[in-house]
Amino acid sequence: MNPRQALVAALWCVVAAGTMAQGAASAPSPAISAAPTSTFADGPALLAARPLRFPIEGMTVDGLKDTFDDGRPGHRHEALDIPAPRGTPVLAVDDGTLVRLFTSKPGGLTIYQFDPTERLAYYYAHLDRYAAGLQEGKVLRRGDLIGYVGTTGNAPPEAPHLHFAVFRLGPEKQWWKGEALNPYEALRQAR
Ligand SMILES: [Zn+2]
Repeated sequence: MNPRQALVAALWCVVAAGTMAQGAASAPSPAISAAPTSTFADGPALLAARPLRFPIEGMTVDGLKDTFDDGRPGHRHEALDIPAPRGTPVLAVDDGTLVRLFTSKPGGLTIYQFDPTERLAYYYAHLDRYAAGLQEGKVLRRGDLIGYVGTTGNAPPEAPHLHFAVFRLGPEKQWWKGEALNPYEALRQAR
């Protein structure tokens, strides 16, 4: 299930729960209809509250492009592509636990990291290689070296870049599931 499907499923659950609640109660309280419509509604505020570090060593935010809404084969991009020379160090944008080192066909060598509140997940993809000694469960500090820019997965070999995404996790905190948030503004503020 991709993140978008996960969101649709989550929304469907909210709708279904609301319907059941109304069916069970003869006089539904107005508070029910005023409840948040999505578990993920606070995602943008959570992300805005995180003081991110820019994930590429030696690079500034100048020239950062918002590629979040770009089309990709079969789906919306929902991430930022940050071009950088192959082998450039990739740094953790925030404190938090490294939950998964994962190799996928599209993403190549990837890293999933939770933020300290474990409500956001950061996703780094197309890495050339991981930093030495990196392992799942490690608590990262903002600015820690985690890997190197590359083209693993479906990145064009002539265009090394970091594919960086942020997700609002659901209550189960499943690292592969959540609603994509556009990290453009948060990275614009990054130091
Ligand atoms: Zn990308």
